[in-house]
Amino acid sequence: MLRIYNTLTKQKEIFEPLYPGKVGMYTCGPTVYGKIHIGNLRAYLLGDMIRRYFEYAGYEVRAIKNITDVGHLTDDDVAQGDSGDDKMIKQALKEHKTPQEIAQFYEEYFHVTEKQINILPAHYFPRATAHIPQMIKLIEELITKGHAYEKNGNVFLDVTTFPEYGRLSGNTLDKLKVGARLEEHPDKKNPWDFALWLKAPKNHLMKWESPWSLGYPGWHIECSAMSMEYLGDTFDIHTGGEDNIFPHHEAEIVQSEGVTEKPFARYWLHVRHLLADGVKMSKSKGNLYTLEDILDKGYSAMDVRFLLLSSHYRSQMNFTWEAMDQARSNRETLQNFHDRLTECHPEPVEGSFRSEQDASTTLGMTQDKISLDTEKYRADFDAALEEDFNTPQALTVLFDMTKNGNKLIDEDRLDNPTDVLKFLETSAAVLGLQWTKKEAIPEHIQKLAADREEARKQRNFARSDELREEIEKAGFSIEDTAQGAKLKRI
Ligand code: AMP
Ligand code: ZN
Repeated sequence: MLRIYNTLTKQKEIFEPLYPGKVGMYTCGPTVYGKIHIGNLRAYLLGDMIRRYFEYAGYEVRAIKNITDVGHLTDDDVAQGDSGDDKMIKQALKEHKTPQEIAQFYEEYFHVTEKQINILPAHYFPRATAHIPQMIKLIEELITKGHAYEKNGNVFLDVTTFPEYGRLSGNTLDKLKVGARLEEHPDKKNPWDFALWLKAPKNHLMKWESPWSLGYPGWHIECSAMSMEYLGDTFDIHTGGEDNIFPHHEAEIVQSEGVTEKPFARYWLHVRHLLADGVKMSKSKGNLYTLEDILDKGYSAMDVRFLLLSSHYRSQMNFTWEAMDQARSNRETLQNFHDRLTECHPEPVEGSFRSEQDASTTLGMTQDKISLDTEKYRADFDAALEEDFNTPQALTVLFDMTKNGNKLIDEDRLDNPTDVLKFLETSAAVLGLQWTKKEAIPEHIQKLAADREEARKQRNFARSDELREEIEKAGFSIEDTAQGAKLKRI
């Protein structure tokens, strides 16, 4: 039974899908004016992890992640969507390119990065610029229903027509009236109203015809239009970073419910920010690390994934290089265990020939052997994820098993390596962790190792030392274990 912390109700709730066996989810995607950083990745990883969990649990998932390529203004995150410059246009002017070129470049960068860190591609990545007619339709309906008004070619949502405004973020109207950090637009009725459509100034680079003006949409209406287009009026899960809660998601709720008069997203999940030097990692603060930056220092994308999974999505996380080192070392521990299991002789495959004598020998040998209880580990792993996607706890289960499994392998007593390997691979896949493929050892090195083994059998240690040196000179190490000599690239 899955329990999810819902930002809307501020409590953990048992997840019930809208339609049995199906999950519809929407993730606020990137504004494609810059390289995505690992803070963004923390947010996208939540979506990926949720999707992988549901697929593992047997659901059919439809995952949508939008591409914001217009209308996100520099002040949108603090004000109400009517001040500041369009982030896309600002970047285009800076790079002497068109906004379309900027969008194309950074969208591609985003897809490449997601792939590197093994985030499953959404089933659809709708672009805001391709959904202007849907946005116009929503705005028209909001005007018809008395929730929005036009002035001088600008359209604003009248927040006072929604008594429930503030349910998600706690920024209810009475609080907003006192706080008033909001910009006064001359055409607004109330300072806390927000823009749905803005008339484009002369020479504005991105603008569309509309019933009100040649203009462009507000950032918030984009996500209402795109989520409902692909998931319906009501859908299961909406995710994003905590900065999206207000004003963005609060706005999405009233825009959508104002039109449909039905509940919008049923479960809202928000990632707490990834910090760097104690403050939110962000493009505007310039304290960001891209995945590329981290790969350049010799870490792997899976080390980063490991790092991000090692803290719960609702706890704050500070990026440090020490934490990166720890993540790499933990990942290697799992990888090594995986390698050792792969090397263990697999149990006889069903139907394979075994003589009676073989069977009795095996029986005799297995007396001291011990099986790891993979069913118990699986139950613990599932329970961790079912408790609001507790990935650090799920990893703890895998490490526990690794510790016990390594000990048994050291003693040559692990009886069910195949089962353990199967469980390890299934659970790693749920977390989206990929294994490093072991490099094939060249044949001539294998031959040297076999010769060395032979020399050792004949107690010709001078010859076996010579062969070891030769192997090492060729760039490989050789280690004698209970299962025989093991070769590795140095
Ligand atoms: P943006 O491209 O700025 O609109 O951000 C895309 C997504 O990343 C949004 O869901 C943000 O909430 C999220 N995000 C941005 N910075 C961070 C951060 N430092 N930690 C976690 N999530 C973030
Ligand atoms: Zn959004």
